[in-house]
Amino acid sequence: MRKIQMVDLNGQYEDIKNQVNDSIAEVLESSAFINGPHVHAFQKELEDYLGVKHVIPCANGTDALQICMMGLGLQPGDEVITADFTFAATVEVIALLNLTPVLVDVEPDTFNIDIEAIERAITPKTKAIVPVHLFGQCANMDAIMELADKHNLFVIEDNAQAIGATYSWASGKKMKSGTIGHVASTSFFPSKNLGCYGDGGAIFTNDDDLAHTIRGIVNHGMYERYYHDVVGVNSRLDSIQAAVLRAKLSKLDEYNQKRWQAATKYSKAFQGQDHIVVPKIACACGSAQNTCDCHVFHQYTLRILNGKRDALVKHLNENNVPCGVYYPVPLHKQKAYVDSRYKEEDFPVTNQLVKEVISLPMHTELDDEQIQYITNLVIDFVNH
Ligand SMILES: *Cc1c(COP(=O)(O)O)cnc(C)c1O
Repeated sequence: MRKIQMVDLNGQYEDIKNQVNDSIAEVLESSAFINGPHVHAFQKELEDYLGVKHVIPCANGTDALQICMMGLGLQPGDEVITADFTFAATVEVIALLNLTPVLVDVEPDTFNIDIEAIERAITPKTKAIVPVHLFGQCANMDAIMELADKHNLFVIEDNAQAIGATYSWASGKKMKSGTIGHVASTSFFPSKNLGCYGDGGAIFTNDDDLAHTIRGIVNHGMYERYYHDVVGVNSRLDSIQAAVLRAKLSKLDEYNQKRWQAATKYSKAFQGQDHIVVPKIACACGSAQNTCDCHVFHQYTLRILNGKRDALVKHLNENNVPCGVYYPVPLHKQKAYVDSRYKEEDFPVTNQLVKEVISLPMHTELDDEQIQYITNLVIDFVNH
């Protein structure tokens, strides 16, 4: 059996090596390292793929989130609601901009932000909601857009983990994740579903004025060279990363398909296990189909119900199966974000999930033998 990796980028590279090497060489020969033709071409190709009017590339997914909030003109003291169970970047930029983070609980089956918890958290100071499409599946955007509409709030989708996922509205209409809210951010960190070979990120919006504002913000607040109209940042995607992303974007659906197939095999193997809860696919396609793009499985995350999660992590590692705990601490308990406003009884789900979740290896190169080895190890250990 091949060595099992949590994320395996080498197989992907072997497959696109010629194209990637040639285009990187071309960037080196041309010296167009910043704002070169690959950056513009990638922007256009991603706009077409997503069906969104504007893609603004930037340096990473954290910058992308911050720039979304700057672009919307959020002001110190404005309240921004987001999930307690996510990567810290989301709350970090809210705090950095002196906005007030309002963390709320999530749903136990999809791990995504809980709609009733959002509703309870809305005050006259609330200006925005940041749903994170956690682990590759969209939050309930029907309900979130309706709430935002009713209370006149901005919706910023943190799409770092779900690029390529399709959201189905209750009406049956389908849209790509990150094109539904007022603006969205994504990350091209190497291990993301669409990853480059360094850091990268992007912002998406269908709003022409907001796109214009954001294009200035990413470039030191300049709309005309050396005239600085607003306080901006320096956040660029470089040409080498754009060249890599172009090669990978054309394969994104295929990559996500392979993740879906691996996830389906995992879930099938865990069927009927009393102590193991497999991730719920919230969309209508169901797990029977072999080709669905409503969940792109950035992570395949189980809940272990009988208290053996930590022991299972150790057991898998001892048997050369890497795994991850995303995330071990709720954001409201992280030292940087502790606040007397938060009450433990408001976070029953997150407080439980942090003790139960375990993410198994998930990438495009998993084979059946590896999946069987992993699932057998998990099942045997959890039941004994
Ligand atoms: C990865 C990630 C980010 C940050 O992206 P970087 O490119 O690493 O800055 C933000 N939000 C979520 C949910 C992420 O998973």
